[in-house]
Amino acid sequence: MLQIYNTLSRQKEYFRPLHEGHVGMYVCGPTVYGDAHLGHARPAITFDLLYRYLQHLGYKVRYVRNITDVGHLEHDADEGEDKIAKKARLEQLEPMEVVQYFTNRYHRDMELLNVLPPSIEPHASGHIIEQIAFVQKIMDKGYAYVSNGSVYMDVEKYAKDYPYGKLSGRNLEDIVTETRELDGQQEKKHSYDFALWKKASPEHIMHWPSPWSEGFPGWHMECSAMGTKYLGAEFDIHGGGMDLMFPHHEAEIAQSCAALGHDSVHYWMHNNMITIAGKKMGKSYNNFITLEQFFAGNHELLEQPFSPMTIRFFILQAHYRSTVDFSNDALVAAEKGLGRLTEAYQRLMKLQASATSTVEIGNLRERCQEAMDDDLNSPIVISHLFDSARAINTVFDGKGTISEADLNELRAVWKTYAMDILGLQLDGAQDAGAGMDAYKGVVDMLLNMRLEAKRNKDWATSDKIRNELTALGFTIKDTKDGFEWSL
Ligand code: ZN
Repeated sequence: MLQIYNTLSRQKEYFRPLHEGHVGMYVCGPTVYGDAHLGHARPAITFDLLYRYLQHLGYKVRYVRNITDVGHLEHDADEGEDKIAKKARLEQLEPMEVVQYFTNRYHRDMELLNVLPPSIEPHASGHIIEQIAFVQKIMDKGYAYVSNGSVYMDVEKYAKDYPYGKLSGRNLEDIVTETRELDGQQEKKHSYDFALWKKASPEHIMHWPSPWSEGFPGWHMECSAMGTKYLGAEFDIHGGGMDLMFPHHEAEIAQSCAALGHDSVHYWMHNNMITIAGKKMGKSYNNFITLEQFFAGNHELLEQPFSPMTIRFFILQAHYRSTVDFSNDALVAAEKGLGRLTEAYQRLMKLQASATSTVEIGNLRERCQEAMDDDLNSPIVISHLFDSARAINTVFDGKGTISEADLNELRAVWKTYAMDILGLQLDGAQDAGAGMDAYKGVVDMLLNMRLEAKRNKDWATSDKIRNELTALGFTIKDTKDGFEWSL
């Protein structure tokens, strides 16, 4: 029976859904003001693993993962201006154009990582009415106050009736010392009060009418409003990265309790973070590597490109609650490991059955299930698959035999656990990778021909190659020693 670690109780608990056979699951999705980086891949893959496993267990899962496209105020945002609005203003775009552009790119990255799309992907900007209604409920219950057109959660009042900080294990004093000076601080009764609704300042281009001001919802509000809209006042699982535990999820709990009188979430699950050479990913370290850069190998910290499946395997090789440290060596090792699994899988598909087995396939299925039931222990599942790869290779090398029943069982378990649950594309991933290499080779070849044409002052040919590649969507840049291109 599936056990998952509940961040709230700080222990593993048997998973019991609220409604027999059904699971409601909400995961905080990306903020779409830039390309997805390695830090986005981890929660996406962690909760994809859970989504896949719950479905394997026979549950009908409603998986909601939101798109944050308004009012995402961060501590380090310039004067608190919404990042999408800022980007749109600087580039003279319609804000929804920016949102759509990065949402499309996020979807493409997720598809490459073989992350299944959620059942519902609501946008915060499409749920302003629900968010206003949620703020109003909190106002009606007396846990919020209006100040200069903005609405703030009255945390002191709330904390008298409900335990504030229970998810992250903080108390109000800790929170006071942690709260940095932010925009709007002077409007609040206490520094730890957080915005439910913000009055828009003149430079904001994304704003909506509300009973309090022309403005936009506080960041935490969207998940409370959309989670309860699509999953109900109580639902099973809420997930996200550990960095969201405070203040985001703590604030969500407070909003639910204040509005509804109870928690909405039964199991809180958090994936641990990815560090890069031991350091947190952060602007100040200049170590944000986008997924695109991993796939193309064009970031100064990368020694080579890494395929989306290598990234997926790299992440699944660690338990989701452990930290993962990125390095080139670690990814090269993951690439090799994935190569060995792929080879074993392809050999398995070619094996011929004999009358009896001389290799031991053990109870592979039970061991894989036991590992997954133990709080999604993907690294243990992977180690069981490696064990079984040894048996496969023995038979493949002619040093052993396998019976038809054992062979069928082995194929079925690999299909279920490696492909369907871990989501590793062991059948065609490498071919696709080889296709990518060939395609890159062809583009390089054309651009080298162009370089030669330029040297021979054959401008007609040089322009023709450039124009036709540009028409196909390539961006070509001439550099000191040749060229750079991207699609
Ligand atoms: Zn959220």
